[in-house]
Amino acid sequence: MLTGKIAVVTGSTSGIGLGIAQAFAEQNADVVVNARTQTPETDALVEQLNGLGTGRVIFAAADLLQQTEIEAMMAKVKSDLGPVDILVNNAGMQHVAPIEDFAPDKWDMVLSLNLTAAFHTMRLALPDMKNKNWGRIINVASAHGQVASVNKSAYVASKHGLIGLTKVCALETAESGITANSICPGWVRTPLVEDQIVARAEKSGRSVEEEARDLLSEKQPSKQFATPDQLGAAAVFLCSDAASQMTGSSLTMDGGWTAV
Ligand code: NAD
Repeated sequence: MLTGKIAVVTGSTSGIGLGIAQAFAEQNADVVVNARTQTPETDALVEQLNGLGTGRVIFAAADLLQQTEIEAMMAKVKSDLGPVDILVNNAGMQHVAPIEDFAPDKWDMVLSLNLTAAFHTMRLALPDMKNKNWGRIINVASAHGQVASVNKSAYVASKHGLIGLTKVCALETAESGITANSICPGWVRTPLVEDQIVARAEKSGRSVEEEARDLLSEKQPSKQFATPDQLGAAAVFLCSDAASQMTGSSLTMDGGWTAV
């Protein structure tokens, strides 16, 4: 379905980003996999993704905390593959502390990666999308883009901001063939969440699996994790013709978290 489309997925060597990159590769898109640095592991991953479909999968290193590296990545994509058709802003990070103890440099880092990096990739991708009169921007926000939790001030602020940025983009492109949407997962068992489960287990002395069960039952009424594959399928749907009138929306995949 995505043959001939060029897709950039930021932070796509693990977790949800990898699930989305895999789903796009299976749909024959050309896919740009991104992480901070290229390693033998990222080379092996790109080789594996290249076997999934007929598109070309390449790697573009960029530390998305650095504006110049974002600009270099987007320029490399254009020269190696062509103008971007599908942009998925997925890279993100978490830091947990009450506001009064929240280190200001951590605040800046979370806002910079989760929100400002998406602004930069979007401003760089939009001119080519407008020229082609087609584009898909998918921002991986969170249930925390819609509701809050204690000790996650920077994350919640960044994800609420990302949903707002996505809506502005949807309005600015409304009369074109471009759509901009957010996906809002609840808990997905990726390295980002595993770190939080392990930290809870270390603090409580209980097992990691007990803490995983508690984490789910506190927030996610389904009591099941969403999976990177499911997020990948949602991203493919947002790229389809069926979703051409879906813009400015926040697609929840949170087991009922934000329904309460
Ligand atoms: P993850 O840790 O597996 O993925 C984060 C990705 O971001 C990694 O691939 C990492 O390499 C990349 N990254 C981090 N810093 C970077 C930098 N400076 N430059 C480039 N890349 C960088 O975690 P995940 O859960 O798959 O997270 C992906 C997105 O999904 C994040 O935006 C996260 O906020 C969001 N999300 C996750 C969950 C969840 O439960 N896992 C829920 C809601 C939203």
